Amino acid sequence: MIIDCHGHYTTAPKALEDYRKRQLEEFGTPGHAPAKGEVAISDDQIRASLESAQLRMQRERGTDLTIFSPRASAMGHHLADATTNRFWSEHCNELIQRVCGLYPDNFVGVCQLPQTPGVRLANCIAELERCVNEFGFIGCNLNPDPSGGYWTDPPLTDRWWYPLYEKMVELEVPAMIHVSGSCNPNFHATGAHYINADTTAFMQLLTADLFSDFPTLKFVIPHGGGAVPYHWGRYRGLAQDMGRPPLGELLLDNVFFDTCVYHRPGIELLLKVIPADNILFASEMVGAVRGIDPESGHPYDDTKRYIDSIDWLAPAEREKIFRGNVERVYPRFARRARLA
Ligand SMILES: [Zn+2]
Repeated sequence: MIIDCHGHYTTAPKALEDYRKRQLEEFGTPGHAPAKGEVAISDDQIRASLESAQLRMQRERGTDLTIFSPRASAMGHHLADATTNRFWSEHCNELIQRVCGLYPDNFVGVCQLPQTPGVRLANCIAELERCVNEFGFIGCNLNPDPSGGYWTDPPLTDRWWYPLYEKMVELEVPAMIHVSGSCNPNFHATGAHYINADTTAFMQLLTADLFSDFPTLKFVIPHGGGAVPYHWGRYRGLAQDMGRPPLGELLLDNVFFDTCVYHRPGIELLLKVIPADNILFASEMVGAVRGIDPESGHPYDDTKRYIDSIDWLAPAEREKIFRGNVERVYPRFARRARLA
């Protein structure tokens, strides 16, 4: 079984985007009281939005199941207030629940959290509980910078985030560390802000003792870990200079990387530098890069093809990357698989 740990509902029917547009327009209106309202999308519309995209690609590329969450670039935590963002997250997550209900063999849910810059995490905890306990979701996406490129909230290792981590540990769910859109014109969202955030999060984790406080807390750093595997020597050296433990001991029981790196040399480097126990297969399809690489004739984001082509990868390691590690990182998935 091949599990893609990183997929977003980027092809959701337009009514979802229209809802958010309306919501944000009304948000600026004086005296407006936000209400959850409706997003009218039929099951047939959901089926149509997936059959021609994610489901077709699963079949064509030979993957089985995608860990599926709302569109990350549309989370837009910086755009409104806590109540508005709560309603938006609830709708996005409810749509993922419907996708997983229609295609239980193809998708398992991960939730968007209703974060808002400078706002404590009570709404996020409530929504995480709802999605895990009521919808059967197995994880969440945690935005380390809900300000959208200005980094106004404390680092991920600050006690600010601890109430959420306590709930994640209690529920046995990991978080993928995943920013949303960028409102800072210096940072292109998927080309710079995403990769910056992956790198930044890793460095924050390296400099603090978060995992002494939460030994079972787990994070997936997406997009191949940003700059981290490429600069692994820098991070090892920085840790050493700071008197920190070796990275394996310090972080690798808790931090995992996905394979959303869109060329073979990058994947090869990731597999050489990071232990197979810490790598989870992912493609982020349909996602940031949708084109065909003219050099190979294949989609950039068909990451399975790169892994398949690496003949020095031992079969046991390949199995961990494609499936086994998911069961370690997402205990709720493992439980679900055992019950099936
Ligand atoms: Zn993503």
